[in-house]
Amino acid sequence: MRYDFASDNTAGMCPESLQAILEADTGHLPSYGNDHWTQRASDAIRALFERPCEVFFVFNGTAANSLALASLCQSYHSVICHELAHVETDECGAPEFFSNGTKLLLAAGELGKLHPDEVERLVRKRTDIHYPKPKTLSITQSTECGTVYSLAELAELRERARSLGLKVHMDGARFANACASLNESPGRIVESAGVDVLSLGGCKMGMALGEAVVFFNLELAEDFAYRCKQAGQLASKMRYLTAPWVGMLAEGHWLRHARQANAMATRLAQGLSSNGVEVLYPVQSNAVFVTLGEERIQRLRDAGWAFYQFIGTGGARFVCPWNTSAQAVDELVEAVRSSS
Ligand SMILES: *Cc1c(COP(=O)(O)O)cnc(C)c1O
Repeated sequence: MRYDFASDNTAGMCPESLQAILEADTGHLPSYGNDHWTQRASDAIRALFERPCEVFFVFNGTAANSLALASLCQSYHSVICHELAHVETDECGAPEFFSNGTKLLLAAGELGKLHPDEVERLVRKRTDIHYPKPKTLSITQSTECGTVYSLAELAELRERARSLGLKVHMDGARFANACASLNESPGRIVESAGVDVLSLGGCKMGMALGEAVVFFNLELAEDFAYRCKQAGQLASKMRYLTAPWVGMLAEGHWLRHARQANAMATRLAQGLSSNGVEVLYPVQSNAVFVTLGEERIQRLRDAGWAFYQFIGTGGARFVCPWNTSAQAVDELVEAVRSSS
């Protein structure tokens, strides 16, 4: 089978993160994050956002999201998110579990995006004591549909969240792709959305594993280290989780990889649509969703191509990881063409 387009996570490590791991693999260093690699990685993330923030490193995105949301909510609160949000569809109830019962309230919205009016409708629908109190808005940037919120859209959500008394969480598993797509700095994106806590993706950006939880609302970070430890998310040999951040964030490697991933998705979408395939969402990051008939899907699978169908609102999803080549894209386009 060919897994080139099945997920961001079918790709290996980018050279910069591998190199950093090798460099970190020398000598005896303090454990549990008290090493200089972890210090450097935290500083690199602060420099990336150009503002004060508290940074924590966890093993994966489910942990980052669910622990971040737990730090924003009490058990009797609720989180408003899109109905296709990863926290709802792909985390096995971890946000509810780690927050001891915080409820997710699902908002519909075109192209995988939340609309401020729908957020407000959910907040105002019930305000009585018998219903969990809405406390946090969770925005995914880039979205699960491969679209990207503009700065103006984020600012509208920020204003609505503020007027409704909601804190803001951002699921940035593909935050790098959003930066590349918008050609905006990380700081401007989180500022536009008024992000209190960001789950910043490392894995899909080209690392072997690991995500960062970044608190711009510094007060909320109090005790977060304990929350990570209790949840089994405190790495003892932390340097292996943090050195890759130092490597990736140096010299804009992360952005270069994200641009490549996005460009390959655009190439794929163009190749497919010029062969008469319907593309379901605007391709603004590194994923392409298309409608393929059942027969075509079967022939593509028989020809050895792996891809998902249950993500988004259906259709076949092709994701371009950081190292997607133009040649691989062209081979997939040809395979789809000849499957009709
Ligand atoms: C991949 C992804 C995550 C992280 O998933 P894990 O498998 O837990 O690392 C989180 N949010 C979104 C939108 C994702 O696509």
